[in-house]
Amino acid sequence: MNYILNDENILVISGLLLDWYGENRRILPWRESSDPYIIWVSEIILQQTRVAQGQDYFLRFTERFPDVASLAAAEEDEILKYWQGLGYYSRARNLHAAAKDVMTRFGGIFPSGYKDILSLKGIGEYTAAAIASFVWNKPYPVVDGNVFRVLSRLFALNTPIDTPKGKKQFTELAGLVMNPQYAGQHNQAIMEFGALQCVPQNPDCEICPLKEYCMAYNARTVRQYPVKQNKTKPRNRYFHYLYIIYEGNTWLSRRGPGDIWEGLYEFPLIETDSPVDFAGLQQNEAFRKLFEGAGRINFSVGLAGVKHVLSHQILYATFYNVEIEHETEGLKSFHSVQCGELEKYAVPRLIHIYLEKLEGNLSE
Ligand code: SF4
Repeated sequence: MNYILNDENILVISGLLLDWYGENRRILPWRESSDPYIIWVSEIILQQTRVAQGQDYFLRFTERFPDVASLAAAEEDEILKYWQGLGYYSRARNLHAAAKDVMTRFGGIFPSGYKDILSLKGIGEYTAAAIASFVWNKPYPVVDGNVFRVLSRLFALNTPIDTPKGKKQFTELAGLVMNPQYAGQHNQAIMEFGALQCVPQNPDCEICPLKEYCMAYNARTVRQYPVKQNKTKPRNRYFHYLYIIYEGNTWLSRRGPGDIWEGLYEFPLIETDSPVDFAGLQQNEAFRKLFEGAGRINFSVGLAGVKHVLSHQILYATFYNVEIEHETEGLKSFHSVQCGELEKYAVPRLIHIYLEKLEGNLSE
């Protein structure tokens, strides 16, 4: 089958997608809104987050920060707390910075120009296209993972999607397939179509309204798409977190700038190149510095083998409960907090897993 894209079948494809969307779309809290702030927040939350999980966060977040002004006026710590568990915390920090920018540079009115939207921190081409098209029906194509998949199959396009060339080609194609008269609806339709119909594994092509036009389906090669370049192997890292207890207090540190967990709190951490047990950890220079002068140390393993997968690395974390006899010099560079007040601090998901376990132990 040799499929050629022309004005007529572009409209047919777009029309079929719109019809399918009208019948199958999910009702989501941000979907009926034409408020650019609401669309913006939802799109940022949904990056790297499943819709089911993102929905609760979205509702809590927009209840507390209903508009740009309230977000701009908030403290970063509070925003991070509302973001806790979503991961990729730079997204929350960028939202905050961009909200302040909207207040100062655009007088508190979210800009409608594509270039102005794109100039806001944390907003890339995808999000700018989503906001411009969903809110103002501007003909900018959105290209997310779902759209890559749908287009690669429809046109049996072999260019790897994770390359600059692939990104350029697919963006052009997404623009060609779009009926500009319904840009916003079309963009939402093709994304939803990828999320619900043209799914990554075993799509039900027999019921697909586009099967007649789908080159991969007609060539029986759906499984081959989308094509990706070989991924680099993720790096393994071994984290040892120390929940140090002394007279009802414990210690936290705050991650610094330039870190994916910037601004979040965690227990004192010792990282090793390979797995080690507590005896091995005690040989570590950082451990010795931290506990010099601590007197008798009682330790127990609070939680072991917690695996946390990030985009380019896999973290293996062990949490130790460590009771000490004396407060040490080494702990002075950490924040001393009461054990019972840990839940007040914004922490990465990994730490949150352990805090939940601690809470569970207390309530048992
Ligand atoms: S026929 Fe199958 S592969 Fe092609 S667009 Fe439909 S669901 Fe996707």
